[in-house]
Amino acid sequence: MTFAAASLKQLRAALDSRQVSAVELAEHFLNRAEAAHDLNTFLHIDRGLTLAEARAADARIASGDVGALTGIPVAHKDIFVTQGWRSTAGSNMLANYVSPFDATVVEKLKSAGMVSLGKLNCDEFAMGSSNENSAFGPVKNPWDKSKIPGGSSGGSAAAVAAGLTPASTGTDTGGSLRQPASMCGITAIKPTYGTVSRYGMIAFASSLDQGGPMAKSAEDCAILLDAMAGFDERDSTSVDVSTTSRKGLVTAPNLAAFVEQHARNASTGGVFQGIRIGIPKEFFAAGLSADVAQHVNLAIAEFEKQGAAIIELSLPRTQLSIPAYYVIAPAEASSNLSRFDGVRYGHRAVEYNNLGDMIAKSRSEGFGAEVKRRILVGAYVLSHGYYDAYYLQAQKVRRLIALDFQDAFTKCDFIMGPVAPTTAWKMGEKSADPVAMYLEDIFTLGVSLAGLPGMSVPCGFAGDMPVGLQIIGNYFDEGRMLATAHQYQCITDWHKRTPEVSP
Ligand code: GLN
Repeated sequence: MTFAAASLKQLRAALDSRQVSAVELAEHFLNRAEAAHDLNTFLHIDRGLTLAEARAADARIASGDVGALTGIPVAHKDIFVTQGWRSTAGSNMLANYVSPFDATVVEKLKSAGMVSLGKLNCDEFAMGSSNENSAFGPVKNPWDKSKIPGGSSGGSAAAVAAGLTPASTGTDTGGSLRQPASMCGITAIKPTYGTVSRYGMIAFASSLDQGGPMAKSAEDCAILLDAMAGFDERDSTSVDVSTTSRKGLVTAPNLAAFVEQHARNASTGGVFQGIRIGIPKEFFAAGLSADVAQHVNLAIAEFEKQGAAIIELSLPRTQLSIPAYYVIAPAEASSNLSRFDGVRYGHRAVEYNNLGDMIAKSRSEGFGAEVKRRILVGAYVLSHGYYDAYYLQAQKVRRLIALDFQDAFTKCDFIMGPVAPTTAWKMGEKSADPVAMYLEDIFTLGVSLAGLPGMSVPCGFAGDMPVGLQIIGNYFDEGRMLATAHQYQCITDWHKRTPEVSP
C-alpha cells in the first residue's frame, strides 16, 4: 500500500502504529502536490503552516488524544476562508485576500486534528462546470491532461484523484461536488441543504450552496462528513438535526459507524435486498451520451443482481431545472457579490475619478467574464418589472421540482442515474458557448434546487475517462445513502483505479 492510494482507515492505522508521523505524511503529500504542479490543482501551499499543524497533530497522537482524522491531511477548496492561507475564490477580486478567521468547516476539520495542505483551485466564485473559469488558470484532469476535471470543485477532485491529498473539501451549488467527482473518478457527497455550515464559505447562491467532502470512497466520505456537519448558529440556514423529525434516520456524527455496522450486518449475496431504486426516465433521455448510459446501466444492473428492486419513475420537470437554476443562482449571486465594491473587500482600481467610477472600475477589473455574465443576468431578473416574470416564476418551478422528488420518494428509497450527460470534455471545447456548458448540469441541478442529498460514485470508464453514478436520497438520509454506496464499493473496484501521475 502506498500512502497516496490509502484509505483514511489505513492512514489512521499507519499513524497509530507509528509507521508514519503526521509530519511525514504531510511532507509526503506536499511533495506529491509540488511534483504535480502542472495539474494546477493547488493555488496556495505553505509548508510552514502545514508542518506546524502536523506537529500539533503528532503531539496529540503522542498524548493519546486521537480521533478518526487526527494527523490526516486534507486540502480545502479556495472558496472556504482560512487563517494564514490566502482565500481567493478563484478570483482576481480576492487575489491577495487573507481571512482573519477560519470557515466553520475548516475549523471543524482542524479541531478533529486534520492537517491542511493548502488551498485548491476552483471556478471563480464556484461558477462553472469545467474549472476553466478560475482567474488562476484551468485545472487539468489527471486522467487526461488535455481534458477538464469538471467544476467548480475541479481542483478538489483532481487533487484527490491524483493522490495529492487523501481528502478535500468542496462545495455544491448546482453540482460542483458531484460532477467533478464523476469526471475525476472519485467519491463525493453533497449533503442535505443546511447540514454543513456555510459560515466562511464565500457565498455564490446562498439558498443552494452546500459544502461537502471529496475522497476516494463512500467510507472515507462518511468519516469526513461526520466531522464537517453540525448545527452552526453563525449560519442562518443551518439545521439542528436533533430538532427535526428524522424518523430514525442516521445523520452525522454517526455516519461512519453506521456504514461500518451496515456492512457487517449485510448478508453475503443480495446485499441490496429490500432497497427500492427509482430510475427517472428523464435522466436517460436524449442528451445522455451512449457510453455514460452504458456504464450507469451496468451499475444499476449490479444493484438489481444483488437484490434491489428497480422502479421506473418520472421527474417530469427535469428540463425546467436548468432555466430555474440559471435564474435563481445568478439572482442570488448578483446580490451576494455586491459586497465586492473596492471598499470593503478585495481589489480596488488604482486610477479613478470618483466613487462610482472607482466601484465600476474595481468590479470590471476584479471579476472574470462568467461572473460578470451572472451578475448582469441576476440584476436583470431581480429588477422592477422582471422580478415577477423571471425570479418569482423560477421560485415556483423550484417548488414543483422539489415536489416531484417527494412524489418519487413515495415509490423508492433512492434515485439513481448519471451525474452528467458526458465524461470530461476537451479543454476549451465549450468555453465559447455558456449555454452548452449550462446544459451539462441537467442531472445535478434538480437535487440542488430541492436541497436533497446526492452523491457521485465511480461506476466505470468510458475509454480512459471515469463515469460517475449519481445516488440521490431523501432529506437527511445520508446514512443509508453512504452505507449503500459503500456496499457497492465492496463489490466493485472502480473507486480504486488511479491515474498515472508524475510523482
Ligand atoms: N455548474 C453550475 C454553475 O455554474 C454549478 C456550480 C456549483 O455547483 N458551484 O453554476
